[in-house]
Amino acid sequence: MATGELEGRKALVTGSATGLGRSIAIRLAERGADVIINCTRSVEDAEETVAACNAAGAQAQLVTGDVSSEEGCRKLADAAAQWGKLDILVNNAGITRHARDHSDLDALSRQDFMDTYAVNVAGPFLMMQACRDLMVTAHKESGRASAVLNVSSIAGVTGIGSSVAYAATKGALNTMTLSLARALAPAIRVNAVCPGFIGTRWFKDRMDEEQYERMEQGVRKSVPLHVASGPDDIADSAIFFLTDSSRHVTGETLLVDAGMHLGYAPLSAR
Ligand code: NAD
Repeated sequence: MATGELEGRKALVTGSATGLGRSIAIRLAERGADVIINCTRSVEDAEETVAACNAAGAQAQLVTGDVSSEEGCRKLADAAAQWGKLDILVNNAGITRHARDHSDLDALSRQDFMDTYAVNVAGPFLMMQACRDLMVTAHKESGRASAVLNVSSIAGVTGIGSSVAYAATKGALNTMTLSLARALAPAIRVNAVCPGFIGTRWFKDRMDEEQYERMEQGVRKSVPLHVASGPDDIADSAIFFLTDSSRHVTGETLLVDAGMHLGYAPLSAR
């Protein structure tokens, strides 16, 4: 439902064809922001996101581009330059190498580390590099700090997660959030969300329906709030960092994980 609180603001969400990126983009559109939707290859999915944002009343457009490359980030920033400013940047695009047994050091190669780092850490940095001037312009015009949101993970805080390489990249993203929040103030606020489990194609593409159901059930049983989060559940918290409700918040990292970081909480404990 449109509230109009972001009317006139311009936003860019990386990796927004699917999952959490799509949910955040739609929430921005519902609040009145125009949005650039980005993907590398999932053009059909991305067009669905564009249509949903347009239906919410926004002007949305798809710009393909790989955030791990300077060229891809430049292309995205050039698309935002048509607006002459950028108020909101969501660094959501992310990848992993699945290697859940962290004791199996042979499960990951040097290349796995480099590939994951390129998208999850260099990507957000290159995007901020490419978009900084546009975000400073938005700040000068409005008098309010522009907002960057980095989508990190509980893996970056606790070290658990799909692989050691993935957790290490999200830990790096969390410290980069601190460094850049300090460096880019007062023109730009930089915050991060750390989801726990999100039911997205991240898992759905790797298992059949029954395996997925079992996994989701396992999450429900083990996290303190006894829920399995979907993209909308995380997006509802993430949107806080992109609105004026967080106007005095920068350098913050919010865990949105139904309590996963607290450890196992059996149902019988209630
Ligand atoms: P997803 O696969 O649906 O979304 C990731 C998106 O990033 C995809 O649309 C993908 O095409 C895009 N992408 C990947 N590499 C890219 C690149 N180089 N350039 C541009 N786009 C690229 O999965 P999701 O679960 O919605 O993941 C979104 C974010 O949430 C990621 O940063 C992920 O690390 C984080 N996260 C996910 C979970 C989870 O359980 N699914 C948990 C914690 C954090």
